[in-house]
Amino acid sequence: MSESFDVIIIGGGPGGYVAAIRAAQLGLKTACVEKRGALGGTCLNVGCIPSKALLESSEKFEDASHSFAAHGIDAKVSLKLDVMMARKVDVVTKLTQGIEGLFKKNKVTYIKGLGTITGKNEVTVEGTKYATKNIVIATGSEVTPLNGITIDEKQIVSSTGALELTSVPKHLVVIGAGVIGLELGSVWKRLGAKVTVLEYLDRVTPGIDNEIAKQFQKTLEKQGFEFKLGQKVTSAKPSKAGVEVTFEPAAGGAAEKLNADVVLVAVGRRAYTDKLGLESVGLTTNKRGQIDTNAHWQTAVPNIYAIGDVIAGPMLAHKAEDEGVAVAEWIAGQKPHINYNLIPGVIYTHPEVATVGKTEEELKAANVAYKVGKFPFMANSRARATGQVEGLVKIIADAKTDEVLGVHIIGPQAGNTIHEACVAMEFGASSEDIARTCHAHPTYNEAVKEAAFAVAGRAIHM
Ligand code: NAD
Repeated sequence: MSESFDVIIIGGGPGGYVAAIRAAQLGLKTACVEKRGALGGTCLNVGCIPSKALLESSEKFEDASHSFAAHGIDAKVSLKLDVMMARKVDVVTKLTQGIEGLFKKNKVTYIKGLGTITGKNEVTVEGTKYATKNIVIATGSEVTPLNGITIDEKQIVSSTGALELTSVPKHLVVIGAGVIGLELGSVWKRLGAKVTVLEYLDRVTPGIDNEIAKQFQKTLEKQGFEFKLGQKVTSAKPSKAGVEVTFEPAAGGAAEKLNADVVLVAVGRRAYTDKLGLESVGLTTNKRGQIDTNAHWQTAVPNIYAIGDVIAGPMLAHKAEDEGVAVAEWIAGQKPHINYNLIPGVIYTHPEVATVGKTEEELKAANVAYKVGKFPFMANSRARATGQVEGLVKIIADAKTDEVLGVHIIGPQAGNTIHEACVAMEFGASSEDIARTCHAHPTYNEAVKEAAFAVAGRAIHM
């Protein structure tokens, strides 16, 4: 046995590395095991961060190509994809190295390699055994494969390959109108690709408030996205000429074909527990491949915990981070709490979509009486000044108590604006509380204040 710890965390993504830092802050002797060769997990290495780097670069390209002229700026624009990609790599590298720095600062032991549970108090990494009082599983998720389709990360790509294309595809076919499909579809659309999205359901972005999702689809269609909804993809066959995609109506009917240069498979992610050694301690996964935990992130083995994408709940980096903090505090004897009703979701397209709390559909299903207030960015002076007038803020409040139950935004910087709603809701705000809070003028947030006024039918600028 080489070394012993109070807690060993398996996985160095947003859940795992945050848990490690918090555990070390609390005085626990902590190690974090990571097999990727870099900390930060899917999010930093092949997910949130590289995609946001490319979304930013491609938006600048799109702006310079199409929007500058209206501001009286004459620009000659050409694309250097290799430079754009090199910038993305630089962003990722600096951030992942930053976490290594944080580990050193907090005295977290970083163990490189595949971690396997080999006993209730033992983790083995590349043949070396480490003793530990507690284990935290933070192994994340992997791409869900689609029957009949082999991802080669060249012609048929997952999000990972879609972040590394070496040229702009003429025609990108995206399978799945979820977050990944629409964010990465946006990147390549802006850089010049024709983008067709095939979606199984009869709507985009399942789980998002229906009214917002409908407006989102219309906005993307205006940008040139083509949607084929209610379609089941049955195969994608690569050849030198491209990829032939076959699909048929989900409700049954004749098959159709499409030719693409690149196909992006974005039909979801699933919990990742490969070679983790769960069986060595009698743990199993549930039907969805996830590890079951109680309210304190404890598995059926009390000193083994699990957090992040590998357990139930939204597969979001910030949910995993909050669980990382909470699980460390629980192990250290504190009483942390996470409000799972208030985990915001953001889609970083243009405009952005951001949401927190309940949708109208969820409230209807639960028979909750509610009132709705809406305010369009078209009537917001900051949006008029910046020319980003698409979208709206929608606030849903309890019909009796006026407590805010859900806030849904499509519009400029929605991903930042939503946090005013998160904080207000965390403190149990009513729509009137938000409406009577002074908001600086001119800001996008004024649309939140106006939507809050609109709940009582008294918006000023509408
Ligand atoms: P998703 O669950 O968001 O969307 C997958 C879509 O694919 C759904 O609309 C689904 O109906 C559709 N689909 C499933 N099977 C299909 C089929 N056979 N044919 C056609 N369509 C099919 O999943 P995703 O976009 O792959 O993202 C994976 C996870 O990563 C999600 O949990 C997401 O929240 C997370 N993520 C979040 C962000 C963000 O927060 N901005 C960004 C990227 C990924």
